[in-house]
Amino acid sequence: MTRHGQVELHGLVLPIHGMEVRTILSPTSGFIARAGFTHSLNPARNCLYGCTYCYVPTLKIYGGLRPDDWRRWGQHTTFKSNAPALLRRQLRPAQVIYCSPLVDPYQPAERFERSMPPILEALCDRPPAVFVLQTRGSLILRDIELLGMLAKLTRLRVSFSLTTDDDRVRRLYEPRCEAIESRIRTLQALTDAGIAVHCTLAPILPCDPARLADLALGATTCGVIADPLHSRDGKPRGATTRPEAMRISAAMGFERWHQLEFQAKIVEEIRSRVESENRCFGVGEDGFRMLTIEHPERTLCSSRA
Ligand code: SF4
Repeated sequence: MTRHGQVELHGLVLPIHGMEVRTILSPTSGFIARAGFTHSLNPARNCLYGCTYCYVPTLKIYGGLRPDDWRRWGQHTTFKSNAPALLRRQLRPAQVIYCSPLVDPYQPAERFERSMPPILEALCDRPPAVFVLQTRGSLILRDIELLGMLAKLTRLRVSFSLTTDDDRVRRLYEPRCEAIESRIRTLQALTDAGIAVHCTLAPILPCDPARLADLALGATTCGVIADPLHSRDGKPRGATTRPEAMRISAAMGFERWHQLEFQAKIVEEIRSRVESENRCFGVGEDGFRMLTIEHPERTLCSSRA
C-alpha cells in the first residue's frame, strides 16, 4: 500500500492510499443480485463521506474490507490503483454492474485521485449491458462528457442519493456530505444533460415526506427509489445502521424513524405523492431493480421525459 495524498475535511486530515488488487469486478449475491445486478465494482475501500448510518462497516469482513476499514470507517481510504487495466480484461457485454455497494465512487478523495475517468473510458471501450453509478457527490459532473459517451454505448443509470429535505438533519447524520441544495442542482444538471438519473431517497432520514418527494420529482424525470433506515427489528442479520446514527436519533428524539411501522407510513406518504405525478416508485430491492431493467424512459419515467 502506498500513500497517495490526503484530504482535509472538517478540520481532520484524512489519508488517501493506493494499492494493486487481483480483481475489480465481483459477482454479486443477496440484495444486489436479486435486484438484477451480476457484478459490483468498488473503486476504493472505505469512504471519506463517513456517514453515521452507513451500513458498509457493519458487514465487517465482507467484500474485501479489512478490519481497519470498518473499525475506522470514514477516516482513510484506499484506491485500487490498477482498476482500469483490470476492468478492460474483466468486462463482458452481458454484465449488469453496480458501482458501488461499498463506497461512493465520487467520495471526497476522488477529486484528488481521479480514479473514475479511466474507469469510464474502459467502460466506453468495452461496454457492459448495464452500468449503474450510485453516488451523492456533485463531483460526478466533472465526468459529464464521459458519462454522455457511455450512455450512448450502454444502459447507463445514475442513482443519486437524497436522504432528507432538512439540511439541519443532513448535517447531524451526514455532516461531510453536500448540502441538499447542491445535490438538487446536481440532479437537475444530470437530468438536463440527458443522463437517466433516479433520485434515491435512501436511507430515509427524519424529513417532511411530501416535501422530500417533491424535491425528487422536481429535479428528475425517472422513477423514484426509497429505502428506510435498516433496522434489526425487521432484519436480524446482515448490514444494518451504524450505532453512531442510532445515538443521534436517541439524542434528538428521532427513534421512531428506525421503527418499521412508522417507516411504512412514511414510505406510503412518499409513494402516494410520487405516484400522483404518474411517476414510478420502488422500495428497497424492487426500487433498485428499476435501475437494471430495459427502457426506463418509456416504462418508468414521467410524461416530462
Ligand atoms: S456515501 Fe455511502 S458508502 Fe460512503 S459513507 Fe455514506 S453511505 Fe457509506
